[in-house]
Amino acid sequence: MSDLKSKSYTLHPKSFDTILIHICCSVDSHFFLQELREVYPKAKLIGFFYDPNIHPYSEYKLRLMDVERSCKSLDIELIEGEYDFESWLNGVKGYENEPEKGKRCELCFDIRVERSFKKAKELGVGYVTTTLLTSPKKSIEQLRVVGDKLADNYSLEFLSPDFRKNGGTQKQFLMAKEEKLYHQNYCGCLYALKKQRDMQNKEASELFMPINRQIEPGCIEERIENYKKRVELEESGRKYEFVKSNFLNYRVLRAYLKVDGKTLPSYPLSYSVIKRKKVKLRVEKDINGIFYANRESLKFIELSYLNEKLSYSFESLKELYFTPLEYKKELFLRREIEKSDFSTSPIVVVDKVNFEKFEIYIDATIFEDVRENLVIF
Ligand code: SF4
Repeated sequence: MSDLKSKSYTLHPKSFDTILIHICCSVDSHFFLQELREVYPKAKLIGFFYDPNIHPYSEYKLRLMDVERSCKSLDIELIEGEYDFESWLNGVKGYENEPEKGKRCELCFDIRVERSFKKAKELGVGYVTTTLLTSPKKSIEQLRVVGDKLADNYSLEFLSPDFRKNGGTQKQFLMAKEEKLYHQNYCGCLYALKKQRDMQNKEASELFMPINRQIEPGCIEERIENYKKRVELEESGRKYEFVKSNFLNYRVLRAYLKVDGKTLPSYPLSYSVIKRKKVKLRVEKDINGIFYANRESLKFIELSYLNEKLSYSFESLKELYFTPLEYKKELFLRREIEKSDFSTSPIVVVDKVNFEKFEIYIDATIFEDVRENLVIF
């Protein structure tokens, strides 16, 4: 039996009371809720997902989706809190550079646990706890201080069981694997994410999102699609696995094309790289609808060429900016032009190649990445 000692713990295991559980993610909650149910088999459990710290919003949606799946399987009611990201930002202002477990985290717990106490008051629930208590990356002592203080302020009880003890953490991770829960690889906020990626010397690719909302490899939207699909598979009784694969990813950060000092609409195909980023070149020849520049292996194609090869009917580059091009089609076009699966030549789509001299800037990054593929049996 887990240690239930906490300053404010008073609930009897045979109580029929209701407990409001603040939920941070499925990996923590799936285990925590089952342990809590074992300790309080007669109590009613209500989950409360209130995590405006999670950034970007798509990551928030993904974590929520997985918590919904978990609560459904455990037959536990779930309430979604408000995603008031701006007020969370204001709440931790001045502590952006703190390390994990530092002052920013204390404020972050304050914000989330306090809102849970408010929710409990609103619902007439007397007991509050949080699944953060089971997260090995969080300080249980820090959480107890926050919870006990709020319990006094709101005249409610804070339950702070330590389910990590006696192999709890190992059991939790085994369960997460068996249940194929979404295992996020950063705590949640943009500050921790940026710091973690800087330390790993990796791109915080979660923070990139093309304006046309194209689903790029390894992006959060791709994961959401996979996790939605797995719910359908489970409902229809099909077997599946998530398997990881390492690959070279690409993101364009900024790009422009200038002719006579004026910016023209342009769209660099994925994996377009210019070593020096900015170069002045000229169009040298046109062979079968591909316009070759004098250096950098750079090529232009017109929108009509893209439409014909990929069966699209874009009327202008501006339309392409706001309509996602299917990624695999974009790669197919590159392969068609370059006759290679590993080409990084800049290939740029424009409305018309009616210019000779031009200046081009492409700030792009190629980096090692890992993605999860959904394999259906
Ligand atoms: S690192 Fe985690 S706990 Fe700390 S502030 Fe960021 S989201 Fe909150």
